[in-house]
Amino acid sequence: MKNFVILGGGYGGLTIAKELLNKYIPDDVQVILVDRMPFQGLKTEYYALAAGTVSDFDLRVHFPDEQRLIRKYGEATSLDLENKIVHFQDGEPLLYDQLVIALGCTDRFHNTPGAEEYSCTIQSFNHTRQTYLRLNEIKPYGDVHIVGGGLSGVEITAELRESRPDLNITIMDRGERVLSAFPQRLSAYVHAWFKEHQVHVLNHAAVSRVEPNAIYNHDEQIVTDAVVWTAGIQPVKMVQDLAVPKDPQGRIVLNEYYQIPDHPEVYVVGDCASLPYSPSAQAAEVQGEQIAHIVRDLWKGQTPHPHPLKLRGTLGALGKKAGFGYGFMGSTSLRGRVPRLLKSGVLWKSKRHFG
Ligand SMILES: Cc1cc2nc3c(=O)[nH]c(=O)nc-3n(C[C@H](O)[C@H](O)[C@H](O)COP(=O)(O)OP(=O)(O)OC[C@H]3O[C@@H](n4cnc5c(N)ncnc54)[C@H](O)[C@@H]3O)c2cc1C
Repeated sequence: MKNFVILGGGYGGLTIAKELLNKYIPDDVQVILVDRMPFQGLKTEYYALAAGTVSDFDLRVHFPDEQRLIRKYGEATSLDLENKIVHFQDGEPLLYDQLVIALGCTDRFHNTPGAEEYSCTIQSFNHTRQTYLRLNEIKPYGDVHIVGGGLSGVEITAELRESRPDLNITIMDRGERVLSAFPQRLSAYVHAWFKEHQVHVLNHAAVSRVEPNAIYNHDEQIVTDAVVWTAGIQPVKMVQDLAVPKDPQGRIVLNEYYQIPDHPEVYVVGDCASLPYSPSAQAAEVQGEQIAHIVRDLWKGQTPHPHPLKLRGTLGALGKKAGFGYGFMGSTSLRGRVPRLLKSGVLWKSKRHFG
């Protein structure tokens, strides 16, 4: 039997597994899905887990229980591309004939002293659980500083505000407005929401150090009870360690079939792949579908014809009742309850699709 190994069961990896299981898999191929967790964590909702407004259980999607799919749970530690081996913290290495790298991303701390050691983060399920504990154990009227005013920073700030109205919450961003990648109108809307809900916005921030109970802005010390870091991402350590061509964000450069050019037996999906888009669950899923088509065509001896990836817009939550959206047909920006309902709909759909 040949091993088709999918390393990582998140948005990208699980989409590929589902698409392959739905259609053709040759008799001499076994599909092996590997993850450190025995379920998919719905990462797009980690901000709510951290804030304490949804439970851990609500964000789990079980992997398909199918005869044609072998599930293997364990912490992968390194990849040997020359010998086609995945190594694990515990247990036997796994040999592959074809591999999909679908491991997602981790935080980027920009060499800020103390940031990695003393910040809370929301890039993995495990870290998010620890962040939940830290934030929810802060005494009444304590101080929290969120570093980074992108989508996940804005979402966790708003959700925490609704979860803990007593806390003093500050969002720190290095630009002149939060959500700088979005239109000005949306930044202004989010800014107004923060003002109305007593969130302090600190623009032009430059975080130079983090300590156990302090954050330094332009080298000035601010005492705090917790720092949440949402100021940048990069592919996981295992991908950082691979000696293959990467783009400036550290994502692996791929050929037209989303394979590593010198290792056509290795596909890369989602946050680890160099795509003409920012990393997102949506991009990982759309690309995952394409990879499944490509793999199937090649299994059948046919020439694949991949289409350019088409993405819909982006939606963000401001607590449970408001939200914002950008990039949808016929509308440059959406604000208020409608985009929030749309976001809940997307979550419901992805639970149904994957679960
Ligand atoms: C708070 C937040 C909000 C977001 N909101 C949105 C949104 O609204 N819309 C959107 O499109 N995107 C959003 N994103 C981004 C989106 O979650 C990611 O881009 C998406 O999860 C990437 O999919 P992926 O398949 O590449 O990786 P992931 O979904 O992260 O999957 C990676 C998998 O690999 C596993 N894994 C990692 N390392 C190992 C290892 N060493 N051994 C074994 N298993 C391992 C993990 O357990 C995980 O299951 C958000 C992200 C965050 C943090």
